[in-house]
Order: sequence, then C-alpha cells, then structure tokens
Amino acid sequence: MIFDVLTIFPEMFCGPLENSIIKKAREKGLLRVNLIDIRDYSRDKHRSVDDTPYGGGGGMVMNPQPIVEAVEKRLQLYEGDVPVILMCPQGRRFNQDVARELAQHKQIILICGHYEGIDERVREIVATDEISIGDYVLTGGELPAMVIIDAVARFIPGVLGDPEGAEKDSYAQGLLEHPQYTRPRNYRGKEVPEVLLSGHHENISTWRRREALLRTLVRRDEMLSDADLTTEDRRFLKCLKDRLSELGVD
Ligand code: SAM
Repeated sequence: MIFDVLTIFPEMFCGPLENSIIKKAREKGLLRVNLIDIRDYSRDKHRSVDDTPYGGGGGMVMNPQPIVEAVEKRLQLYEGDVPVILMCPQGRRFNQDVARELAQHKQIILICGHYEGIDERVREIVATDEISIGDYVLTGGELPAMVIIDAVARFIPGVLGDPEGAEKDSYAQGLLEHPQYTRPRNYRGKEVPEVLLSGHHENISTWRRREALLRTLVRRDEMLSDADLTTEDRRFLKCLKDRLSELGVD
C-alpha cells in the first residue's frame, strides 16, 4: 500500500516511520510512504506556500496552487480511484471502521494543512474526503496523517505478527478488548486471573468475551447498541446490569 503525504514538514515523519512495526512494514515492502514537500510545487522564488486571508483576520492560509498541482502530479502516477484526503478538524471522524475501509485502497493521498488551514478551493478541486482524528485542533495535519497511516497499516496483511491481530483489538468487533497479562504471575501482590493459567481454551475464551463485555459496559456502554452480540452475550450483560443496579451503580 502506498501513502503519498503532502506536507511542508516532511522531517516530522522520521520518528514514526523509522521505528517498530511501521519500519518493518516498509522494509518488507508492505507499506510505502512518499513524503511530498508542498514547497517543491510553489512557483514563488522563496518557495512560499501561504498568504494572508482574504477578508482580514490573523494567521495565514495555505495557497491552493502548490497543493492542487502536487496532487494532480501524483494522480498521474496511479490508475483508478485514489482517495485524496484532507486532514481537517471539520472532517468525518476517524475510527477503526474508517481505518479498515481505507486499508482496501492501493494508494491514498493525504494532505496536511497548517496555519489557519487550506484555501477552500482545494476541497472543491482535488479533495475526495476530509478526515478529523478528534474534536480538537492541532497545529498541523502531520500528526493526524501519522495516526491514519499507523492505524491503516495494521490492517495490511503481513504487517502484524498475528494475522488476525487487528480484528481482535478494541473496536474491531464493536467491543473494547479484554484485559491482557504477561509474566510475572504475581506482581506486587496482584495475581494473573487463574483461568488464564489453566490452559483450558474454551474457559479462557469465555472469560475474555465476558471481560470485553464488562469493560465495554462500564467504559463505553453506547458501543453495545451496535455490537454484534450473541444470545449468551445478552444474557450475561443482563446479569451484569442487574447486579450493578443491585449495587446502586448506574
Ligand atoms: N482554522 C481551522 C479550523 O478551525 O477548522 C484549523 C486549522 S489547524 C490549526 C491547521 C491544520 O491542522 C488543518 O488544516 C488540518 O490539516 C490539521 N488539523 C488540525 N486539527 C486536526 C484534527 N483534529 N484532525 C485532522 N487534522 C487536523
């Protein structure tokens, strides 16, 4: 899978791309990230890419020309529909379903804004989508682009050691994941749950499912209305809710 990232700060990507699982994915040829410096497309001798906003007000706005031309140049290299996604706090909210959806594409172009944002005409001329990583405003689109690349890469076959890893994580099945433990068995007086030491796969699987249901109920109960629940899950949740109401917990 190929990401083309349009940015005025390509060096910001060094850390995330050159470490851990993402580095290995790149080395294995499963993921390629082309960092495109928007300034290379500026027609200004100072390589400037922003200007003052029409209508006044503080801050600078990124000019449309270098971004549009950079996108058009990249699109010439690819066939078919390539998503061109603006990093934007006003865009649709990024989540695990969006990550899985984006992982179906062979190429994706991400545009990182800065300053007060990007001239509106970039939206109209080249963008096909806008994504926000949350309801807060960052100084630039580089961190959102890194978040998206990382989350999407986990769905590319071969990137994770466990091929089903991404589908077992929190959110993948509409639930938060169960708690995880490793050595030692006892740490500062806190024991690993006995069932995990039993080697009994069915009991372990039941325990994990129930812990996932409990976690989701306690932390994110609104997720349960969309989760894929079995009759047994629903029975267990009813017991949990009855027990919580007996204890006077909402
Ligand atoms: N003035 C813009 C507004 O109020 O919507 C915010 C501009 S922000 C300071 C600069 C750039 O950071 C944006 O163009 C976008 O690329 C990126 N950005 C900031 N917050 C973001 C978020 N939550 N998700 C995605 N991108 C974001």
